[in-house]
Amino acid sequence: MHEPQSKFMNLAIEAAKKNFQKSAGGPFGACIIRNNEVISVAANSVLISDATAHAEMNAIREASKKLQTHILSDCIIYSTTEPCPMCFSAIHWAQIPLLVFGSRIEDAAAVGFNELSISNQQVKTLGNSTVEIIAGFQSEECLSVLRDWHVEKADLLY
Ligand SMILES: [Zn+2]
Repeated sequence: MHEPQSKFMNLAIEAAKKNFQKSAGGPFGACIIRNNEVISVAANSVLISDATAHAEMNAIREASKKLQTHILSDCIIYSTTEPCPMCFSAIHWAQIPLLVFGSRIEDAAAVGFNELSISNQQVKTLGNSTVEIIAGFQSEECLSVLRDWHVEKADLLY
């Protein structure tokens, strides 16, 4: 079992924070690694691309392009916030065996994002997915990114 590492979550957090300056999308970041090596780091870019451009989707697209395969079964994904059901499904489709996330969907909803209130664990259980979930990793730091956004960027909520 992979022991979650701060250096990877920190990359996702940095990507999320960059959106404070860029306003490309919400304060969400993701990082995909393989054999302890970073494959992709991405932020949400919904505001400059489209509604599916969540951090996890962007990270998966970048990783697949780089590794030239849609199967990422030897990878691990870090996400600053619990992926939405769309992204959790994408993680399932990409066959990523392990997801590590910080804050929760309800935390994103609490600062105003129009989240579907379905947890990854619920999607996993209902859908019989084998994706392993490590929740709450560096959650305080991930939460503070959401809270800062709520204070500074509430006009950019979607
Ligand atoms: Zn998503």
